Amino acid sequence: MRAQPAASHFVNGEWLEDTAGEVIEVIYPGTGEVIARLHSATPAVIGAALSGAVAAQAAWGRMRPVERSRILMRAVAIIRERGAELAELETLDTGKPIQETLVADWPSGADALEYFAGLAPTVTGETIPLGGDFAYTIREPLGVCVGIGAWNYPSQIACWKAAPALSLGNAMVFKPSEVTPLGALKLAEIFIEAGMPAGVFNVVQGYGNVGAALATDSRVAKVSLTGSVPTGRKVYAAAAAGMKHVTMELGGKSPLIIFDDADLESAIGAAMLGNFYSSGQICSNGTRVFVQRGIKEQFLTRLAARTEAILAGDPLDPETQFGPLVSAAQHEKVMEYIGKAKAEGARLITGGAAGNHGPLFVQPTVFADVTDDMTLAREEVFGPVMAVLDFDSEEEAIARANGTEFGLAAGVFTADLARGHRVIAQLQAGTCWINAYNLTPVEMPFGAVKASGVGRENSRAAVEHYTQVKAVYVGTGPVDSPY
Ligand code: NAD
Repeated sequence: MRAQPAASHFVNGEWLEDTAGEVIEVIYPGTGEVIARLHSATPAVIGAALSGAVAAQAAWGRMRPVERSRILMRAVAIIRERGAELAELETLDTGKPIQETLVADWPSGADALEYFAGLAPTVTGETIPLGGDFAYTIREPLGVCVGIGAWNYPSQIACWKAAPALSLGNAMVFKPSEVTPLGALKLAEIFIEAGMPAGVFNVVQGYGNVGAALATDSRVAKVSLTGSVPTGRKVYAAAAAGMKHVTMELGGKSPLIIFDDADLESAIGAAMLGNFYSSGQICSNGTRVFVQRGIKEQFLTRLAARTEAILAGDPLDPETQFGPLVSAAQHEKVMEYIGKAKAEGARLITGGAAGNHGPLFVQPTVFADVTDDMTLAREEVFGPVMAVLDFDSEEEAIARANGTEFGLAAGVFTADLARGHRVIAQLQAGTCWINAYNLTPVEMPFGAVKASGVGRENSRAAVEHYTQVKAVYVGTGPVDSPY
């Protein structure tokens, strides 16, 4: 098979197999061909990964931060050297065009490892003067962290979670999505090659039940999930029962508000990036595009022309700009949403059918005249389906943009920067853009409000979520006791 790894799991620095686990078939979405066959983790595999992580964390957490960073930087160099090979594997795993996986997935993961390798040695506590006595704080690692990934950016998600966790002295057991299990195994191998001690980063495969077993284990201090809101609610509740720390990166239905003074071609380009990149399978996508009424028809005409020029095809062809969806289940779900949008009266501008490049393709699709009550405006589709809604005033756009349980991202396009800042200040979203969309450099916090999640990934903000503060009071004189 084209991408069969040596075994299903990578635990304690070694490949590990247990064929008693349920079979996981990995398909290449470009053709539907089975490219690997793995097994879900059994309790024995989960147990080995967790006890290995506990043992490894003790020494890893005590290592000088700069020594941990040196190992992470070696991993960064390996990832960059093997960029082409890793991008090809990511394309096989996800079906995303190679022109995306070469620049977005592993490169963004390497950036995260590089950033936290640089940052971690600068993380220190503080000294608090108390008039003779004093206190100091220590930022300690949490212990063993569990990472659970979604299938849309499998290797980036593994790196975004591993980078702050490991650089700050934690160990990790990572469970990739059962749909895209291959990239995380590469990361585990690369870490060992870079000199990381065995057991610091482990990968176990499995369906939701394996994620649930990890999230409830008493050896685990923290669970970081990237996934849907319904899964997030379950994992958050399970983690709460064990008083564990959490980071929840969940779904969205983010607004992108385009005012009539915006640079139209830039706004259209951003709306397309925020709905069609990765075939629309991006959590922060601006899937409710609010366009001010005066520019609506002009916007739609240019949007349709540019959308129809998108080059769909073989994901491994470097010319291809648009690939299939990740799985048959996702394809079916997206086609159902397109059917519902038509039935509920949205106006189809372009697309609206399954693509003809393979079984899992869906055409890049635009609906206009979408109203707030339509299913397309309320639910996350996670496919290449853009909803265009009209608005008249700034106040109206803000109120309607906030009328959702989600709160992941938001964007505004306007030539009036004062208005841009004023509008963003009122939008309920964790990650926002003015005159840009979906750029997520590691230096900037990434995360959500409302039902879309808690905690932040990337940036200095992630330090808070992978460390805990120990406060130490130091007495310098005799103890004043009434007894
Ligand atoms: P999902 O919720 O179905 O699965 C996510 C992960 O959780 C998978 O690894 C799955 O096996 C695991 N899981 C399922 N049930 C579980 C349980 N009870 N306990 C523990 N783990 C469990 O999501 P998906 O379909 O893989 O990914 C798409 C979703 O992810 C979309 O909603 C998307 O918006 C979201 N997403 C969010 C971000 C973000 O950063 N906010 C990024 C990417 C994707």
